[in-house]
Amino acid sequence: MIPLKDTFWQTESWQQQMSGMIRDPEQLLRRLQLNPEEHPDITAAMQQFPLRVPEAFVAKMKIGDWHDPLLRQVLPLARETQEQVGYVNDPLEEGNANPVPGLIHKYHGRVLLIANPSCAVHCRYCFRRNFPYDSNNPSQRDWQKTLDYIADRPDISEVILSGGDPLSAPDEYLQKLINKIALIPHVTTLRIHTRLPLVLPARITPALIGVLSENRLRIVMVIHCNHANEIDSHSEIALSTLHKAGFMLLNQSVLLKEINDNADTLVKLSQRLFEVNVMPYYLHLLDKVRGAAHFDVKEEEAQALMNAILARLPGYLVPRLVVEEPSANSKRPLALS
Ligand SMILES: *Cc1c(COP(=O)(O)O)cnc(C)c1O
Ligand code: SF4
Repeated sequence: MIPLKDTFWQTESWQQQMSGMIRDPEQLLRRLQLNPEEHPDITAAMQQFPLRVPEAFVAKMKIGDWHDPLLRQVLPLARETQEQVGYVNDPLEEGNANPVPGLIHKYHGRVLLIANPSCAVHCRYCFRRNFPYDSNNPSQRDWQKTLDYIADRPDISEVILSGGDPLSAPDEYLQKLINKIALIPHVTTLRIHTRLPLVLPARITPALIGVLSENRLRIVMVIHCNHANEIDSHSEIALSTLHKAGFMLLNQSVLLKEINDNADTLVKLSQRLFEVNVMPYYLHLLDKVRGAAHFDVKEEEAQALMNAILARLPGYLVPRLVVEEPSANSKRPLALS
């Protein structure tokens, strides 16, 4: 374990910040000095998928700007409730690759665990915004089935903790789960997909580093950052802590209309990630989930953006443009011309 001060900057613990997060759109808009009356009725959108955003993320938004790229990721909009052809509840048909509750086995060699159903932030474009978490919320006693499934399949070398956000679970829960995974000899890598270093950087505590370090597994952390503005000094400290602990840090983004769908924004994002030791991994086309159609960027536009950033960045800072499909054996890379 590396020595660290227990609090970086916050006077509140991460748990307090999490329970105190903003859930009321009016409160969010007032906090940003925006007039809630200018915002059309969003009751129906809120019922589909409620607002949730910690103050640490709101603090990175620009005051008075309806178009702030961070605000746009979390603010419910009335248009989410307009039905669009082709946009469905389970676009990836994960229900079909769900042999044990809480486990998705779609690709060779790796399984994804819904380690924790809740998130510290609700992203409006999330492809799991309609996922039946209630039936995929493994309590501690259900782990055995999941662990048996992995133990019975020697070709599984990587376990991916996803969610929800696995890091919004308490340390004790993670510790038990990770230690059990580490007992399966053919598992060599533990991957964690999380937004917490961005939305609630106080979560990266010395205790968490301990939980992740004190086992034999190789740790890969994939943060989900869509815009360079998400990485402020607090996130920078959190990421530097993870880097110093020896974890491999990668980023995946979703290409989102009016949030990051231009070459300058994508170039800045890759450069900022590199400054904080995070390598760009994937740039995803939007999953066609009900409620998110207004974020869609067309395939041809995405390919044109990729060509523009390829011309401006070293190869190692160019993410792979991919699309996820229900019955493919990997994410599908989009060809560029
Ligand atoms: C994305 C994903 C993975 C990991 O795929 P990589 O290409 O290794 O990043 C694994 N399982 C599921 C269900 C996924 O959606
Ligand atoms: S699963 Fe990820 S993308 Fe979806 S709401 Fe949670 S943090 Fe956001």
